[in-house]
Amino acid sequence: MYVISACLCGVNCKYNGKNNFDESCAKLFRQGKAILVCPEQLGGLCTPRTPTELQNLSSNILNGKGNAITSDGINVTNQFIKGAYETLKIAKDIGATKAILKENSPSCGVNNVYDGTFQGNKIEGMGITAYLLEKEGIEVFSEEDLEPNRDKLIYLDEYSKLKKHKRKILKLKNENEEEFGTLNLTDNLGEFSDLPEKVQDNVKKLMISLAEDLMGFTDIDEIAEATGLSIEEVMEIKNDNK
Ligand code: SF4
Repeated sequence: MYVISACLCGVNCKYNGKNNFDESCAKLFRQGKAILVCPEQLGGLCTPRTPTELQNLSSNILNGKGNAITSDGINVTNQFIKGAYETLKIAKDIGATKAILKENSPSCGVNNVYDGTFQGNKIEGMGITAYLLEKEGIEVFSEEDLEPNRDKLIYLDEYSKLKKHKRKILKLKNENEEEFGTLNLTDNLGEFSDLPEKVQDNVKKLMISLAEDLMGFTDIDEIAEATGLSIEEVMEIKNDNK
């Protein structure tokens, strides 16, 4: 089972209320192989939110040295750290061994993050969640590892080497492309029943976003059917989001 940044599967949880849809990630999700997380939402931040950059290495920030600061100077370090630990807890609860996280994000970046100046400069480094997951033994990849750009074709089911040092170039399998219509949210929700209530709430919130944003459902009963939630639950969660 994978943990995947929710924005990579089309959930509009990015700081600007948009997403970073990636077909390879969505495919893993459609196959029921992934659970979605948004560490910044798990840490208590809302969407949309003010962009944030790290003022130090994630390893230092997790040890109380350095902060995550928004572009208007608000210190959101605690929320970022909380989101990282909540994500770790979810990963452990579902027995995830791999995570696919959004490159460049201050939470999810795997190889690069922005340098803290809000000038658009990227530096080598990891987001706080990515760093914590890797430190705890979960292999972390970015969506860029999935990209079939040039000859670099990597498919994670066959890719279990430590990244950076041992990146391998694998031939992408000829896969039969599936239609979006096969996305089955209900199957995925079935995996969550043993999670703590608070974690389930967040996952349900993300699943509703996915039903709306990726599958295009607008009616409450359609969203309920797609997610496996009751109509009352969907209404309650959507009202809480307002
Ligand atoms: S915290 Fe991660 S999952 Fe959430 S929007 Fe940012 S990159 Fe995506």
